[in-house]
Amino acid sequence: MKAQVFRGVNHLSYEDVALPALLADEVLVQVNVVGLCQSDIKKILYPLYEPPRIFGHETAGAIAAVGEQVQTWQVGQRVAVMHHIPCMRCDYCLNENYSMCDTYKNIVTTAGFIPSGGGFAEYVKVPGHIVRNGGLIPIPDGISFEEASFVEPTNCCLKAVKKANIQPGQTVLITGAGPIGLMFVMLVKYFGARAIATDLIPARVHKALELGAEAAFDARDTDLPPKIQALTRGMGVDVTLLAVPSEKAFFQALDCTRKGGKILFFAEFPDEVEIPINPNILYRREIDLIGSYSSSFKLQHLAADIVFNRRIDVQALISHRYPLSDLGKAVEQAIKPTPETYKILLYPDLQ
Ligand SMILES: [Zn+2]
Ligand SMILES: [Zn+2]
Repeated sequence: MKAQVFRGVNHLSYEDVALPALLADEVLVQVNVVGLCQSDIKKILYPLYEPPRIFGHETAGAIAAVGEQVQTWQVGQRVAVMHHIPCMRCDYCLNENYSMCDTYKNIVTTAGFIPSGGGFAEYVKVPGHIVRNGGLIPIPDGISFEEASFVEPTNCCLKAVKKANIQPGQTVLITGAGPIGLMFVMLVKYFGARAIATDLIPARVHKALELGAEAAFDARDTDLPPKIQALTRGMGVDVTLLAVPSEKAFFQALDCTRKGGKILFFAEFPDEVEIPINPNILYRREIDLIGSYSSSFKLQHLAADIVFNRRIDVQALISHRYPLSDLGKAVEQAIKPTPETYKILLYPDLQ
């Protein structure tokens, strides 16, 4: 089968690899579509992982084979594939910090080499732990593979919304209106709160308004804090979701978030970045700084409900479809987005 193999920093190789062999409790999924995630881009462009590996984790496809012990799944069933599932037993899991669980962090779905997601291939193998513990999500009739590929990123965003405890009637500032920021706009609105978005790209500012933001601004606007105050009875927003790894966006968030509000770090910053902060800002204004990484097992059902019942319009986020052979081009485009670049999807069989 064909796969995009990570052979070193910024070195992808589209090559033939062996079809993964199945153990008795494993399932093989033929990939129909896989979303390109910011985290994939980081893994490809920075020396974070030893090559060779096959990344890709926002995967939807059809079951192509099952091991002889697998009773509950049949060939032909359409599924979204979760690339990691927590153990449900460790102290992290018992405290619902599923994404801190060692079993969760240890990615096991694979298309070959050290398991790393495996979605950037024609077939991906799903190990027994994932098969048995809810990591295959059936796609309802009438829902496309494309839509189903959004269950994983929706869960990640949903987890942040829940961690920030966003309530109906609150106002939320979302810094960055790329595919993640726009998903936040839609989710925040779905949960009854008001979204305000910022971005450097004018087309994204417009898109945020189109998808339900009450207001959207150029991120360079030096009048942003007074504009936000005008929209929030002089208070500032209840929550800021940082969907871009930008120091400037963080300081803007401090200026725009109300006393007693929350700032949530969603985008991963480069490791060398350190942000100096006067702790009295947190003390006197009681601002909570929180982080949210990856998805929550507990929210998987709700994430699937949101996507499969079209409670947010994930299709509005799709801007480009590439054949898997052009993954390199897709990465290029994602890091140098044109005004109309949002979510990029990859297809093993797109000609
Ligand atoms: Zn992702
Ligand atoms: Zn655990």
